[in-house]
Amino acid sequence: MRLAGKVAIVTGASRGIGRAVAVALAREGAAVVINYASNGEAALETLAKIGEAGGRAVVCQADVSDWEACESLVRSALDNFGKVDILVNNAGVTRDNIVARMKKDEWQAVLDTNLTGAFNLVRAAMRPLLRQKSGGRIINISSVVGLAGGVGQANYAAAKAGLIGLTKSLARELAGRQITVNAVAPGFIDTEMTAALPEELKKNMLAQVPLGRAGTPEEVAQLVAFLAADAAGYITGQVIAIDGGLVMQ
Ligand code: NAP
Repeated sequence: MRLAGKVAIVTGASRGIGRAVAVALAREGAAVVINYASNGEAALETLAKIGEAGGRAVVCQADVSDWEACESLVRSALDNFGKVDILVNNAGVTRDNIVARMKKDEWQAVLDTNLTGAFNLVRAAMRPLLRQKSGGRIINISSVVGLAGGVGQANYAAAKAGLIGLTKSLARELAGRQITVNAVAPGFIDTEMTAALPEELKKNMLAQVPLGRAGTPEEVAQLVAFLAADAAGYITGQVIAIDGGLVMQ
């Protein structure tokens, strides 16, 4: 149990990668706050999975794009578990469109959740993290699209690239406190987000993956669990791709 005694907040943990991360961290012994935006039923399924595995967790609804909601998300960790050690900024949305047709609200919604959401949670958790004087972990779920761009995904690519800039700046600001900050950049992972893509597009994307298949949420979760553990204490400010070799940096 690499995370025994730790407390984690995982945003967007009702489904997909976030759910797998919440379950993996709980299996390693962390108490987990399972955040979601609107799908309360799915969040309760994540809670049940953690319960079956013998872990501890609570569910907390909060729209990460809302500053006050992020404050109440952190309060939920403090009220239920007394502290916060690990933040996983995973909540994300897509509103794909080519720039020539992209509406202002498609741009704004993606930036608000994927980028500002991470800033909001970090700000809300900053005081308890620093006051605890026990180090910490911030893990931001970016995307290979943030490294390489993507047709029809300028909003998403900008948000995910912005998240990498936030990661590196925070890593420098918090290193003195032994708080590490890293970004994980998944490629094509089998979740509801990618299930929504047209079949032809999926086929073309998978054909470009050297390992020849989509990744699973559990594979991403194992990487996040490693970064959250003490064993990763000398890794900070990094962007780690998990993409079957799609984007080799
Ligand atoms: P998903 O299956 O669509 O799940 C998205 C999660 O984010 C849900 O739990 C959703 O909550 C939550 N969420 C959305 N907006 C939110 C908000 N404003 N506040 C709080 N929670 C919010 O997505 P996924 O594929 O697991 O993706 C997870 C992360 O990995 C995202 O940041 C995504 O950009 C990134 N990523 C995914 C892939 C991939 O191939 N799947 C690749 C690269 C990066 P509700 O259930 O309540 O709606």
